[in-house]
Amino acid sequence: MPSKDNTNLPIIVVGGGIGGIATGLALSRKGHAVQILEQAAELREIGAGIQMPPNAFKAFKALGVLEEIQRVAAYPERLVLGDMMTGEAVFQSPIDEEFVRRFGYRYALLHRGDVLEALLRACQASPLVKLATNSKVVKFDDVGDRVLVTTADDKTYEGRAMVACDGLWWESRAALFGRENPSTDHYVLCRGVVPVKDIPQERYSQSVTMWGGPELDFFHYPLRRDEIFNIGASYRDPSVKFENGYPRGNRDTMMERFRDACPHVKALLEHIDTSRAWILYDRPPLKEWSKGRVTLLGDAAHPTYVYISQGACMALEDAVVLAEMVDRHSSIEDAFRAYQHERYLRTARIQLTSRQFGEIYHAVGVQRELRNHLLATANPRALHDTLAWVFSGISGGEAA
Ligand SMILES: Cc1cc2nc3c(=O)[nH]c(=O)nc-3n(C[C@H](O)[C@H](O)[C@H](O)COP(=O)(O)OP(=O)(O)OC[C@H]3O[C@@H](n4cnc5c(N)ncnc54)[C@H](O)[C@@H]3O)c2cc1C
Repeated sequence: MPSKDNTNLPIIVVGGGIGGIATGLALSRKGHAVQILEQAAELREIGAGIQMPPNAFKAFKALGVLEEIQRVAAYPERLVLGDMMTGEAVFQSPIDEEFVRRFGYRYALLHRGDVLEALLRACQASPLVKLATNSKVVKFDDVGDRVLVTTADDKTYEGRAMVACDGLWWESRAALFGRENPSTDHYVLCRGVVPVKDIPQERYSQSVTMWGGPELDFFHYPLRRDEIFNIGASYRDPSVKFENGYPRGNRDTMMERFRDACPHVKALLEHIDTSRAWILYDRPPLKEWSKGRVTLLGDAAHPTYVYISQGACMALEDAVVLAEMVDRHSSIEDAFRAYQHERYLRTARIQLTSRQFGEIYHAVGVQRELRNHLLATANPRALHDTLAWVFSGISGGEAA
């Protein structure tokens, strides 16, 4: 006999990115059956780096993958902000024992593929998680006591509820609440993932370094225990458009935009691959993500600019909190409302703070001078204080 809330049916998770796989894992760890549906033929993250401050590690602990992640992480000694035009480091913040005592974990640098793989292996080890690739969700119906989810190959899945982790473009969100395009300031980011041995020694740095410039930024840090150097160049270019499913950068435009950059940045620009670019988007914060038996998670709920490195961290935290709420409430609608309530202010603050950090990095004229002046005279730990609310993360998942 099905229970009143159809707990015998799986919870359907749409999307097999970091958010979707973490959600499948978090729910299964609380004893819930899960069906993950991913449109792609295989689960893959692009081969680039991702910064993961201590709050992500609290979530990894709650997800049971902490040791695996720690094995593949690289740990910088400091976070540096440089002025791209002068080549000067204007602010350096230590990541040391005091930082770990305060926040429980180090600030880590990870390969995206390693994060997805650790989460995926843990999911695959659970008999409660089923995963279908080549399964693009084209329709879903909340029919009161369950959801019916249809894929492009005309299969229908019956679930207790649906968690849409389908990313920035929000097909699920559009179906629930209407379509609105994401917002952009037209910054385009191109990356480079280079073996450390190919980087001249004088260009290598073990720190996370962000070079701010007028409507430009450039960053670099090591990955995979210092085997790889991850670099990124971002510049404003409203002309970049999607082509064949993804946008391309333009090397000439990029070189032109960085023409006055310091020699260090110019030398590393050579390693940037412009054949693929990411247009950076966010959306204004929202209060409502759930309707009945359907809710949104990760970029589908609260896409954010990249400037405080928190998009994937928020998806991990969402997954942990969602599973906790599903466990705590006997009605799935109540659980989704409680999850949304618990998350919306924190994720809104992340979205708004990211925008502010972008403005600081990209400052021009007197704003740039003021940034440099204030940062040069700031306490090196001021950044820890400013972002303590981010790094402290969700409750639970404390350091071992
Ligand atoms: C350049 C850049 C740098 C970043 N750096 C950082 C960083 O340092 N730290 C950090 O924490 N975050 C960072 N982020 C943000 C982070 O990458 C995202 O927030 C995170 O990947 C979002 O995960 P997600 O699972 O919500 O969405 P996605 O990763 O977008 O996954 C969505 C998944 O859903 C699938 N899907 C979509 N529609 C359907 C459908 N109809 N049916 C089935 N499947 C579907 C897609 O194929 C995809 O697999 C960065 C982002 C960018 C662009």
